[in-house]
Amino acid sequence: MGQYIAIGQYAEPTGDNSNTAVIHTQATLFDALETLPINQTVADNFTIAWSKINSPLYKKILCTISGGSDSDVMLDILTKCDKDKKIEYVFCNTGLEYQATKDHLDELEKRYDVKIQRVRPKWPIPAAVKKYGQPFLNKRPVSEYMQRLQKHGFQWEDKPYEELIQKYPQCQSALGWWCNKHQSDRFNIRNNKLLKEFIIRNPPTFQISPKCCNKSKKSIVHEFMDSGKYDLDVYGVRKAEGGARSTAYHNCFNCSTKGDYDEYRPLYWYKNSDKEDYCTACNIKHSRCYTEYGLKRTGCAGCPFGRDFEEELKVMEKFEPNLFVAANNIFKESYEYTRAYRKFVAEHSKEHAKPDLTAQGGYQMTIFDFLK
Ligand code: SF4
Repeated sequence: MGQYIAIGQYAEPTGDNSNTAVIHTQATLFDALETLPINQTVADNFTIAWSKINSPLYKKILCTISGGSDSDVMLDILTKCDKDKKIEYVFCNTGLEYQATKDHLDELEKRYDVKIQRVRPKWPIPAAVKKYGQPFLNKRPVSEYMQRLQKHGFQWEDKPYEELIQKYPQCQSALGWWCNKHQSDRFNIRNNKLLKEFIIRNPPTFQISPKCCNKSKKSIVHEFMDSGKYDLDVYGVRKAEGGARSTAYHNCFNCSTKGDYDEYRPLYWYKNSDKEDYCTACNIKHSRCYTEYGLKRTGCAGCPFGRDFEEELKVMEKFEPNLFVAANNIFKESYEYTRAYRKFVAEHSKEHAKPDLTAQGGYQMTIFDFLK
């Protein structure tokens, strides 16, 4: 460790408890490493973070802060590493944020002595959902393909692909999903138990779309990065979190393919246990969403993509009733449709457990379908 150069931090108490202590970046990397848990993943990745953030290749760095627990760890790491204050922090207010998250941002600014710029997208979630449609079940494939089929006036017909493609020639991929024609079942409708049977009996009467994700969240970061002001984009994705967000990447870092900016994910290799070790050793404080409301994760409040959105709604009703009302207005039809689908699955699972050789694409259900 002797070769490490100056970097680190110490906390200066403000008189009350340590939650409001201001943390300064200084001292040596050796000192900083001593504040970290004895954990190889943490130490290795901290060293990588230091080398990325302090690389002369990067003059200006953008980091997106969400106010969630991963973001808390990432901010702690980055403020320890950013000796030249090259990082600008941004929080995207999607229009559906917990007050606890907003309050937490104020706390983070004090604790780390940084400015977190609050920005609002051109299309906040309520407006994006109103214009494009409501997210349902998952982003890809369900919402994306249902949106496409709706756009082409699909009648949710139970017919063979060859017949449907004649009628809807622009919907090749979406019909592949509907008729279970994709090579990977991840992109076939049978990946969601009884979804096709449910839709045929209950065609959606509202517009479905995953577009609020792009319009309300990603567009802001793209606007910042496309300004040409920044040469590194830093954000808090972890491989272990699973889902489409993490499987989109294969490493903690990727170079720009267009020569504009690189991307870095300081927590990419952190498993849950590494994160816990870090939080304990570095006394990381999370927002009230975790400590008081008992949520396991934060993000857009009540997003219908969340498997546990019903639990989240209960939490919102109790702690943030205005947000509860807003989410119910914005995602009303999607919540109702998801509830009806879940009820349908619960009621029909047994009868569909029998092999059905006549199903579209000759698909035979197995016990594994019911373990998904
Ligand atoms: S996470 Fe959900 S609510 Fe938030 S932008 Fe994406 S789809 Fe919309």
